[in-house]
This record gives sequence, C-alpha cells and structure tokens, in this order.
Amino acid sequence: MKPQEIISKKRDGLPLAREEILEFIDGVTDKSWADYQISALLMAMFTRGLDLDEQNALTDAMLHSGEILDFSDIDAPKADKHSTGGVGDKTSMIIAPVVAACGVAVPMISGRGLGHTGGTLDKLEAIKGYNVRLSTDEFRQIIKKCGFAMAGQTAEIAPADKKIYALRDATATVSYIPLIVASIMSKKLAEGLDALVLDVKTGSGAFIEEFEESKKLAAALVKTGNAFGVKTEAVISDMNQPLGKYVGNALEIYECVKILRNEADEKMLPTLELSIELAAGMLVLSGVEDSIKNSKFKIQNVLDSGEGLERFRRNIECQGGDIKVCDAPEILFEKDLIEFEIKAEKSGFVAEVDTICVGEAISLIGGGRTRAEDGIDHAVGFACHAEIGGEIRAGDAIGVLFCRNANQADLISEKLRNAYKIGDEKPQKLELVREVVD
Ligand code: URA
Repeated sequence: MKPQEIISKKRDGLPLAREEILEFIDGVTDKSWADYQISALLMAMFTRGLDLDEQNALTDAMLHSGEILDFSDIDAPKADKHSTGGVGDKTSMIIAPVVAACGVAVPMISGRGLGHTGGTLDKLEAIKGYNVRLSTDEFRQIIKKCGFAMAGQTAEIAPADKKIYALRDATATVSYIPLIVASIMSKKLAEGLDALVLDVKTGSGAFIEEFEESKKLAAALVKTGNAFGVKTEAVISDMNQPLGKYVGNALEIYECVKILRNEADEKMLPTLELSIELAAGMLVLSGVEDSIKNSKFKIQNVLDSGEGLERFRRNIECQGGDIKVCDAPEILFEKDLIEFEIKAEKSGFVAEVDTICVGEAISLIGGGRTRAEDGIDHAVGFACHAEIGGEIRAGDAIGVLFCRNANQADLISEKLRNAYKIGDEKPQKLELVREVVD
C-alpha cells in the first residue's frame, strides 16, 4: 500500500489493520516514508483516534523496529522504573541502588532533559567522569558487577520512536494517550524486563496536568505492559511543586547521596518517600517480596545499613565516575557559584507553584536545554525552601538560586518569585502518592 492510501484511510476515520501499521513503522525505520507523510498520519491518528487493537499494533511495531535486549543470562529478576518526567524528579539514583541491593537487577535506560523537565543522564553526568554511553555488552557487565546500570538509549532501541517523537514534538501531536503509550512502552518493553513500575506525574509540572487524564494514561500504560508480558503498575504522583529540595543536575545528585547516607533534611523527605514507594512496587512485582509493607521494611534496612550507598559507589566506579561524591557530596557544589535568595513579597500561605516555570527558569540559565543539541551547565540550580501549604512572611526566602553571575540572577529571579503564588488561606495538603494503578 502507498503511504497516501494508509493516510487517507485514517484521515477518513477508519481503523487501520495491523499490517498497515507495520507498513507505516517499516517506512519510518527504513526512511521510505517522508517526514511530511509520517506527520500527516500522526495528525490523522491524533484527530481521528486509535482503538486498542491499533494502539497495541503500533506499540508492537515500534518495539520491533529495533533491538530487544535479552538479559536472561543474569540470574535475578529484572525490573525498571520509568517516570513521565517532572521538575526535581531524581528518584532513579535512589531506586536503582536500593532495588539492586534487594536482589533485583535494574537495567535502567534513561533520557536527557528537554524543556522544563530534567533527565537522569544529565544528572548522572554531573558526577565527574560518569559514563552513560555504554554498549549493550558493557551495560550487561556492569549489571552483573553491581546489580544495576544506567545508560542512554542506543540507536538500536525502538528507532522508529526516536523519529516519530521528534516529529510529534514539532507538529503538536504529543498529547494523545495512545501515541504516548506506544512511545513509552516500545522503549521500556525493549529492555527485557520482568517488571516495570511507572511514575505517572500529575499537576502543574507534569506534561499531563489533569488528574483524571493522568489516571487514563496510567491505566493505558499498565494494560499495555501486562498485555506484553511485563508485570506493570503505575504510581500517580503529585507534580504540583518540584519534588524534594533541589532542582538542577549536580544539586539533585547531592540530594540523592544525602538520602543514601541517611543525612536527608526535612525538605528532601518527599524524594525519599516517593523513591521507597516506587522501589517497593518493583520488589513486589519482581516476586522477591510478597507485600508492599514487607518491601518497605526491606528497603528501609538497606538504607539504614548503608548498603544502598555502597551499591551506588560500586556503580559509579563501574561507570567511570568519581566515587568521592559518596563520601563528600558537598564537592557537587561548585565553588564559584553565587547564591541568591529569592524572597517573598507578601505574607501568607504558599497556595500554588507554577512548576513548569521553575523548571524553565533553571533551564534558561543553562541547567536544562531548549533544543536537544544544546549543552548543559550541571552546577546551576535552585534549592526550594517554600512548599505548598507552608506559611511564609514577606522577606522570607522562597528558595536559593545557585547561579554563575548576577546577570543570570537578574534574568530569572522574577520568574522564580512569580512561580510561587501566595494566598491568604491555607490550602489543603497535597498527597504525594495520589493513586496506585495495577
Ligand atoms: N515520553 C515519551 O517517551 N514519549 C511520549 O510520547 C511522551 C513522553
């Protein structure tokens, strides 16, 4: 069939057959479809919709557009966690070592930050020397040595998604659940997993803000994972404010190491709470524990004994990074940064946070990227002092900006200040874990 025949069928609202979807994905992968034809079909899918059979066929075709990893020679259940992305979202660096210390292998394939969201790979590269560009064989050897490895997606994993995601980004066709499901799951199902826990963010810093929509996305992701033979559950977690204390690559690694060292301060506790919740789900789905309660108990022991920190140290060593961050995490704060307090202009309660604005502000001074090819300044960031529901007086610090010079502070301090809305009434407390979908 010619591309235009498949496009016109979907344009007219008809369901596509599995073979037609396969032909589309083959055309994306072997480059026989032009970008304008791919984009036209994506827009037709977006406006006319995809039913469950089409969504599964698309996921399957995208998954098989590349390599499917096989870790069956590793004698442990394999599990991963995937987050739909947020601000200050740094749980991977806690979950991977802790879950590995509990006997589950974690082949963690992560992404880079784009726009307001951070990326695990950028955070890891804040550790001097840490290498996230691993071949499949290096990845496998590191998992065998320390129970987990963290790397970027190779060109061989779901290559069709890479092309399609870039075109969706440029043609306003990202926010459609069946396309999101096919995109996320084609990459995760290629990791050769037994179990997968999804952290679906909801709120002002998530790419789906509405709770009901987040629930639909979570349910669709879980259904697809299970249909493809991977035990899957989703935790819907709050992203109406940055997670934990720090936003910014090196600062977020600092927070993770402090948590692994049992030195977390109060502002870091949400990061710990969510990490434990997600890690516990991974242990139960992998079959090494029979309940969330027992899993949490085991995870707490691994944290208390320092085994989680030791796993992280071994992993950093295996991936070429500077293990000194484990003993002296303060080296992650570069000496020539300037600290700039962002002060509240009025008294009251923190009612809302425009979380995207916080992420974008840090991105603007180099902490993130607006285009995929941009470089990054790992050191800059923001320490969040204010939190929703907290009382604040005019002149109190909403947070502290870590930046390179006064120009950067001038550029974003107003944006950061305005991101925190202060009202007269104390708002209701937000639950961090909103719902678990299994
Ligand atoms: N993340 C992805 O990998 N794909 C999407 O479509 C949306 C978020």
